[in-house]
This record gives sequence, structure tokens and C-alpha cells, in this order.
Amino acid sequence: MKENILFKFKPQKKWGQNFLTDKNIVQKILKEANITEQDLVLEIGAGKGILTAQIIKKAGKVFVIEIDKNLCLYLEKYLPLSDKIKIIQADFLKCDLEAINNEKLLKFKIIANLPYYITTPIIMKLLKQRVWTEALLMMQKEVAQRIIASPGNKDYSRISIIVNYYCEVKLIGHVSPEVFFPQPKVTSAIIKLVLRKTPLVNVKSEDFFFALVKTAFSERRKTLINNLMKFPGLNLKKEILCAILSGLNISSDIRGERLSIEQFAKLSNLLINFFPN
Ligand code: SAM
Repeated sequence: MKENILFKFKPQKKWGQNFLTDKNIVQKILKEANITEQDLVLEIGAGKGILTAQIIKKAGKVFVIEIDKNLCLYLEKYLPLSDKIKIIQADFLKCDLEAINNEKLLKFKIIANLPYYITTPIIMKLLKQRVWTEALLMMQKEVAQRIIASPGNKDYSRISIIVNYYCEVKLIGHVSPEVFFPQPKVTSAIIKLVLRKTPLVNVKSEDFFFALVKTAFSERRKTLINNLMKFPGLNLKKEILCAILSGLNISSDIRGERLSIEQFAKLSNLLINFFPN
């Protein structure tokens, strides 16, 4: 990329603009992404293009979604433009990824140094619109820890279950604040998500399964049963709930945070029978 040091640009805090400045981290991300000419890459939030410039060299086609109009102008000016790259000025959360992907047969590889103020909504959107195969995402370490946490760990939460249901998850490494400008207040982490061909567990209804998980984690200090007593529409007496858990070899005083994703699936497939539809 032709870098212009005179380009005056004040990073916008409201858009989580902490730009990567370290080429070693860029290389680390690219090595993990293993991009080839056959790949269709989607980068979320390209910023000043430190990753984009390297992605273009390897990918068959690159889509960039960047909310900031000034940054889009910057990218158009300083990136080596060709028909290989398409810069879309838009809010990623409002984009229809299926409409963007006009190469219908090919799925995206996602790369992003995420804007941290919307890390979770972006991940949720990716899990909803699964038009991709794998994603390399930089995010705040705390969110990455929740995603990779196992049952019983203090970080194990709803997002651990939702992400692991759809994806294999790997922690690539931690990244210190010094490699960004401006420096964020938190340490970052890079994780790789590989979309599973089929979800990790078999559930009769995904909506019901996710609603159950949400209820189970609604008040972390309460037992699973006490949280389940508030599950909308599930009007079962405590003794019945105890019997259901006991039938699944789950202790009646367990907290939701100790239940594995497989146990949640079994419980979900049983409890759904107590709902009319
Ligand atoms: N990729 C660049 C880098 O590594 O230096 C920039 C990363 S910066 C942490 C996040 C980028 O996401 C910023 O460029 C910001 O403008 C952009 N962004 C913030 N909110 C966005 C949104 N809703 N949709 C698309 N891009 C967004």
C-alpha cells in the first residue's frame, strides 16, 4: 500500500477505531487464515487497510465493509484497486451478507480486527448468516475467554454455548495494547472459528434450545431449577423439574454454568415436550 504519512485522520472512538500497527500481528493473522487465490474474503472494518493490503495480495476476491466514509475514501486512494476488491461503506450489522455474496457457490473467509463496542452483535450476526466457512477475529480478551470457556469455568456463559454449537473454536493468541493506535485499554485475543458442517449437538428446536440456555444463565447465582421456574411458558412444579433433571443424571442443585452443551441439548429435547407446539 502507498502510505501517505501526511494523511490527517483522527481515529473515531465511537466506531472503535484502534488501528493495528504491527506487521508481525498482521502476518500471524494471515498465516492462520491461509488465504489462496480460491478464497473470497470478507473483511469487517478495514480501517486504514493494514490487513486489507496483505489480503488483496493473496485472495481471489475481497469484500470490505467499513462504516466510516472517510476511511473508505482513504482505502480507495491508497489501496491498489482492481476488480478484485469491493469496498462497501455500510454498517456491518445492517448488511445482508447473502446479498453481498454474488459468487453464490463460494463462501466467505472472514477476517476482522473487530470494533470492540459491537463484538458480540457481530459474532451473533455471523452465526445467524452462515455464508462463511471460517473466521479469524481479533477481539477483547474477555470476550474471547467467554467464547472458549468450558463448563464450570467462571467465564462459561451463553456465548460459549452458542458459538460452540455452530463452530469449532481455537485461541490463536493474545495481543497487547501497544500494537494498536490509539492503544485500547484492554488486552486483545485472536480466535479462529470454523463453521461446523452440522451443529455440535442435535436439538429438536434451536429457538427453544437457545431460550433454555438464556434462562439457565439469567441469574448466575441461582440454581438451574430456580432459573427454570421462570422459563416463560414452562409451568412445571419444582418436584417435576427435579425429577426431569434426575432422569438425565443432573443434580437438582446444579447451576446452569456447570451444564455441558450436550446436557443442555438433552434437557432442551425433553422440556420441549411440555410445550403445546
Ligand atoms: N482493520 C483495521 C486495523 O486492523 O487496523 C481497523 C480495525 S478497528 C479496531 C475497527 C474498524 O471497524 C474501524 O475502521 C471502524 O471504523 C470499523 N467499524 C466500526 N463499526 C463498524 C460497523 N458497524 N460496520 C462496519 N465497520 C465498522
